[in-house]
Amino acid sequence: MPIATVNPANGETLRTYEAMGEDEVERRLRLAEATFRTYRTTTYPERARLLHRAADLLEEDQAEIGRVMTTEMGKPVKQARAEAAKCAKAMRWYAEHAAELLADEEPSAADVKDSGAARALVRYRPLGPVLAVMPWNFPLWQVVRFAAPALMAGNVGLLKHASNVPQTALYLEDLFHRAGFTEGCFQTLLIGSGAVDEILRDERVKAATLTGSEPAGRAVAATAGEMIKKTVLELGGSDPYVVMPSADVERAAQVAVTARVQNNGQSCIAAKRFIVHTDVYDAFAERFVAGMAALKVGDPLEEETEVGPLASEQGRSDLEELVDDARRGGAAVLCGGERPDGPGWYYLPTVLSGITREMRVHREEAFGPVATLYRAADLDEAVLIANDSAFGLSSNVWTRDEAEVDRFVRDLEAGGVYFNGMTASHPGFPFGGVKRSGYGRELSGHGIREFCNITTVWHG
Ligand code: NAP
Repeated sequence: MPIATVNPANGETLRTYEAMGEDEVERRLRLAEATFRTYRTTTYPERARLLHRAADLLEEDQAEIGRVMTTEMGKPVKQARAEAAKCAKAMRWYAEHAAELLADEEPSAADVKDSGAARALVRYRPLGPVLAVMPWNFPLWQVVRFAAPALMAGNVGLLKHASNVPQTALYLEDLFHRAGFTEGCFQTLLIGSGAVDEILRDERVKAATLTGSEPAGRAVAATAGEMIKKTVLELGGSDPYVVMPSADVERAAQVAVTARVQNNGQSCIAAKRFIVHTDVYDAFAERFVAGMAALKVGDPLEEETEVGPLASEQGRSDLEELVDDARRGGAAVLCGGERPDGPGWYYLPTVLSGITREMRVHREEAFGPVATLYRAADLDEAVLIANDSAFGLSSNVWTRDEAEVDRFVRDLEAGGVYFNGMTASHPGFPFGGVKRSGYGRELSGHGIREFCNITTVWHG
């Protein structure tokens, strides 16, 4: 894949980049290692000051970097600006909370005594240079939610971003430098995915985090396993969105539309499978389909646009194949189901019903504005359908019944259960999945501790 900005709204190549050669990558690895030696000794207040500065700069740049993201991957520009704002918020959150999240822990007095120690504590120390392999769908957010905690913990970052968002990747490096982080604290490696393996094998790289598809996760985890290096994997999702009879159906249908088409439908935590209790199925389906069909699809640089193009031509063909497969298998297309006329990699918001287990769209992730509708006879069947997926990222349930709430929290196989709303990441809550959605957690205290050397300090 060439490293280039290609505008998904018209297919025009705006900028291309040469991949960095071996010498340049070597220079950057050396710099990362050397920088870590001193950066690791800085204090939390020093790191926090720099991260606050980065947040201020990012806020100032919101409109400009928003437009860059939109021209690189097609998200509506309003959502791009909101993404930048969210990143600034997460930076501040970690700047303010890291010291407390990584404070020394005291084991219980009984355990200290029992071990024969005079005193003991647990200290969170940084690991070193961490490689971040990141996707294009939230080109700022995916990186910042790694970088903010990593930098606050005293690690340094090496970013291998998706090949279609090079300008955003370079912007991030520049942002951290302008904020005052020394050059080796955060570096962008402009490389193709084929160069990742060798870098991961390099002794100077201590750990890796990958957000992306299952094949990419498998490749990185396999090499990291061989090298005995810690990894966090945030992979795909096909989140269920369950609607029970006690729900506010009107509101559930309204939120369902946003939950499905946010980021042009290309979000790992987008609700993708809509599982509706038979008592409210018709009422929900009618409102949901009407909402999906009414969305304003168009140029993502227009303020009013709600759904822009898919990020790549390949992404659109993959989505079309899923819909065509379902159609051939007998699914009903309740709206959309085709690309509109004209240039750009657009696909109309689509709702499918009559889904069977044999259809690819039931088993695979639909990475675009395509929703599948299921009818469930009762709670047990809703849970069964929800869990009938290889993925387990997050989940959404609409109910006002407390007994049902307990059942869903007990039984849904996912890293999150969101009631009466849609899944959205927040710096204060852990984020990640189970099953083939990956392992490990980002955000919150759990996220910042993933790349720490959790050290027992014992005094006899
Ligand atoms: P992708 O093709 O896996 O790309 C993600 C990153 O991995 C890119 O930087 C890519 O580089 C790199 N990569 C690809 N193959 C690789 C390999 N064999 N070895 C090392 N690196 C490799 O994924 P995508 O299509 O950009 O992103 C969509 C996927 O990401 C979806 O499945 C989505 O659900 C998932 N995602 C998950 C989360 C989460 O938090 N769980 C969040 C967002 C997205 P190149 O661009 O150079 O190929």
